[in-house]
Amino acid sequence: MSLLTIDKATKKFGGLTAVDGVSFSLEQGEILGLLGPNGSGKTTLINLISGALPMTSGDIRLNGVSLAGKRADQIAHAGVARTFQLVRILPSLSLMENVMITAVFGAKSHWGQAAKDTAMTALSRVGLANRATANAGSLTYIDQKRLELARALAAEPEVLLLDEWLAGLNPTELAQGIALIRELSQSGLTILMVEHIMEAVRALCPRVVVMNSGSLIADEATQSALNDPRVIAAYLGD
Ligand code: ADP
Repeated sequence: MSLLTIDKATKKFGGLTAVDGVSFSLEQGEILGLLGPNGSGKTTLINLISGALPMTSGDIRLNGVSLAGKRADQIAHAGVARTFQLVRILPSLSLMENVMITAVFGAKSHWGQAAKDTAMTALSRVGLANRATANAGSLTYIDQKRLELARALAAEPEVLLLDEWLAGLNPTELAQGIALIRELSQSGLTILMVEHIMEAVRALCPRVVVMNSGSLIADEATQSALNDPRVIAAYLGD
């Protein structure tokens, strides 16, 4: 059985079908790229998986258990965590406090010292343990991104959803970011990543799924997808 199964997921906004019967699955430990031109429905799909938006129809299953109709907090508790395209850290709180919030509300619902330990572990994984007491608002952009990732990791997810987590980094930071995602993947975490930076997709994702106008147009090895005429046409705007 696949770890995560997207089964004819559909989302309509009034007359617009932003996600149109999309099906694919994610195996335990896999790192899968989610590609597609702007407006193709990638973020909406991430919102459906994480429960930020209710599906219009279809099903999403984690370890065979349906997540359809569940709230975002229930889905986080079930083991799915995400980052947001725009960083959503709480600037007036310390790094530790930012991360403890998701440790408390994550898969294991840690409390007290256990929440602190989980938060510290998550900060260590992204290289921010030595800044734990600093104010989140004082962080550089890359460190805000690291903190955002630590918040997702503190929920101790089975599946991590990354929505353009690497966007906006300079070349040095990008290399560091790619290495960090690779480490997380090698630790056994299953990752679905929306990503526009092809260098990162090539480096990290053996397989990709590609969306266009709400539909899935490819589900194949990355190298072959990037040479697929349908994929190239989608990016060029048909
Ligand atoms: P992508 O992430 O691939 O750029 P999105 O998922 O953001 O695409 O958007 C897919 C389509 O759904 C777009 O046409 C977008 O305008 C539309 N859309 C996204 N969110 C909403 C919303 N909350 N209400 C109405 N339309 C939306």
